[in-house]
Amino acid sequence: MSSVHAAVLALQGSVEPHLRSLHASGVDPIEVRKPEQLAGVTHLIIPGGESTTLHHLFKLHGLDTLISDRVKEGSLALLGTCAGAILMGHHPDQAPPRLGLIDVDVDRNAYGRQVHSFVDQVEWNEGPGPGTSEGVFIRAPRFTRIGDSVNVLARRENETVAVQQNRCIACCFHPELTTDPRLHRWFLGL
Ligand code: GLN
Repeated sequence: MSSVHAAVLALQGSVEPHLRSLHASGVDPIEVRKPEQLAGVTHLIIPGGESTTLHHLFKLHGLDTLISDRVKEGSLALLGTCAGAILMGHHPDQAPPRLGLIDVDVDRNAYGRQVHSFVDQVEWNEGPGPGTSEGVFIRAPRFTRIGDSVNVLARRENETVAVQQNRCIACCFHPELTTDPRLHRWFLGL
């Protein structure tokens, strides 16, 4: 994977576990906090955390436009987990503003409060699958609209919980909080 330069957006949230998963997948990731650190990065993870805070920090550094431009020109693959998935999608009226890089509407905190967080099996359709893995849902979002050109990657109880459009993946749960490196490995191959 010599042409892969992986990174985790390290402004806030679940950064360390993603770094560990990337190491377990055979790459040596960097942490991105400033625009200049994105130069040369081919695969970026936007971690879970708090999407409003992440949005503010994005804007402060101009990273929102830079990431969007790089994705649109095809030079950056993006994996967003939980708050990262919220920011990658759309929502007609809910804050924070979204990047709109995947044609899905993503509803924040869709399963309720922090105490309603849960762990359950998710079933992969393609991509890293087929097969099942553990999904950690922490104050998780839900896809409420899925565009025609979006691939469903994983489901839980007939509900879509991970999607892909081109080189963008949005995942409602936290694959980095398990020891299963399949999603990260597959992402690095995109
Ligand atoms: N509920 C958080 C938000 O709306 C996301 C939670 C997470 O990333 N685990 O930003």
